[in-house]
Amino acid sequence: MHDEPADAAARRAIVPVPVYSAASLPRPDLALYLKARAGARKRDEILVPPREGRCFRVGAGQFFRITCTEGPQVGDLNLWNAHDLSERFYSGKTRALHRTHLSTGDRLWSTFPGLRPMATIIDDTLAWYGVDEHGCSVHDVIGTRCDPYTQHLLAGTDYHHCCHSNLTRALAAETGLGLSRAEAHVHDVLNVFMCTGFHRETGRYQMKASPVRPGDYLEFFAEIDLLGALSACPGGDCASVHSSDEAACHPLKVEIFAPERPPEGWRPPPLNGYSGGHGF
Ligand SMILES: [Zn+2]
Repeated sequence: MHDEPADAAARRAIVPVPVYSAASLPRPDLALYLKARAGARKRDEILVPPREGRCFRVGAGQFFRITCTEGPQVGDLNLWNAHDLSERFYSGKTRALHRTHLSTGDRLWSTFPGLRPMATIIDDTLAWYGVDEHGCSVHDVIGTRCDPYTQHLLAGTDYHHCCHSNLTRALAAETGLGLSRAEAHVHDVLNVFMCTGFHRETGRYQMKASPVRPGDYLEFFAEIDLLGALSACPGGDCASVHSSDEAACHPLKVEIFAPERPPEGWRPPPLNGYSGGHGF
């Protein structure tokens, strides 16, 4: 045990500042995106079965929508540069640049050295939810993904339909990579429709039944050519349990839309411009 210093209250009273300036972050012109979306036609549709994962491909300048179908269901989303799997969604930096839970206007950023927007959220039917009395909100980038290793660690059992495994199987099937090579590309997700937060006193990661209902959707604009994978989490609405067959689970729908022409003035974002010397 360590006693508080005499100036503990003064140290705690320091007003925090944002780590990254929101004003410096390049902002998407949503009005132009929505104008392009208005003339877009559906190009493809993929149904992700419960407790399974599926891949999908979206061209730069196209749109993809994830929809809740038959009942409340959480989805775990991975994104890769379709031409280079080493550039993938960077959940932690996206969290730091935007916030803990994403919604309309927020972007999904890629790993170093790319660090560029891979996708921009253009519509979210759950944007009304905000932050509830428990400090929870939807579409988080604070969790990782349910996985068989943590399940084994905590429960001593093997379960093969965690999101991590669903995404691994989906990527292996899509790319022809073996399971272990595919697994190495699976990364921390955007938890689509999941309702989560950190407990205010203990700081522990917590979840509650998702407010999503059939017909709700989250829609994205693809800034670069994307390979995506979505898992319909075995936790269902993630009200109480996951990593088992206990929860009621439902399919998720992914639709791809191609506009007649991309948003006016839009170009796929270039790779990050850092010179790469690292001071060596
Ligand atoms: Zn999951």
